Amino acid sequence: MCRHLGWLGADVSVSSLILDPPFGLRVQSYSPRRQKHGLLNADGWGVGFFDDGVPRRWRSTAPLWGDTSLESVAPALRSRCVVAAVRSATVGMPLDVSATAPFTDGQWLLSHNGVVDRGVLPLTSTAESVCDSAMLAATIFSLGLEVLGETIAQIGSLDPNARLNILAANGSRLLATVWGDTLSVLRRDDGVVLASEPYDDDSEWEGVPDRHLVEVTAKGVTMTPLDEPKGS
Ligand code: GLN
Repeated sequence: MCRHLGWLGADVSVSSLILDPPFGLRVQSYSPRRQKHGLLNADGWGVGFFDDGVPRRWRSTAPLWGDTSLESVAPALRSRCVVAAVRSATVGMPLDVSATAPFTDGQWLLSHNGVVDRGVLPLTSTAESVCDSAMLAATIFSLGLEVLGETIAQIGSLDPNARLNILAANGSRLLATVWGDTLSVLRRDDGVVLASEPYDDDSEWEGVPDRHLVEVTAKGVTMTPLDEPKGS
């Protein structure tokens, strides 16, 4: 499954988050260390960042490891809030840019690491692609990010095989769910990183337990258990 990374903090370059670290998303695109499903993430990449509150995206269906344009421009792309991902497409899903995270509703940037049965999602006309992740993103956007935890627990109860690791940002908050795959948090002096797996061997990385919701704001990091809805 895919790997993603979120940043909230000081103004930093995209390259410092995804290209420069020894096990950053560039390396995770061909040699992830904690990936439970899939061997590599060669089906594209996406970088989303907030620019004076406006979400902007750059996405590609090419492997991140060979992208010389991104390598050239990423040091000049700076932001206080970033969502980036590398993709390992689920069998049967389209290999298009429109199926590549991050997805947006104009306010939030959102990445999904996992898989979900599209049959349990409500039909929505706003999905960017028929890819399961794009449809899940449209569902989350339409229900609102304030109920992200409830939405994920509900969908998880409807599809017990689903893996629902979400990472979303709106410029001042990061929200993430851990449901079936890995997520780690790094509290740095200048901000917080959420990542599917640590981008280096800093001992400060903390693994987030399965079935949790993580929220990062300027005030800090909170983790809340996600329970399946009662009666399910
Ligand atoms: N199911 C999504 C896709 O096909 C996400 C895959 C993943 O997490 N690797 O793109």
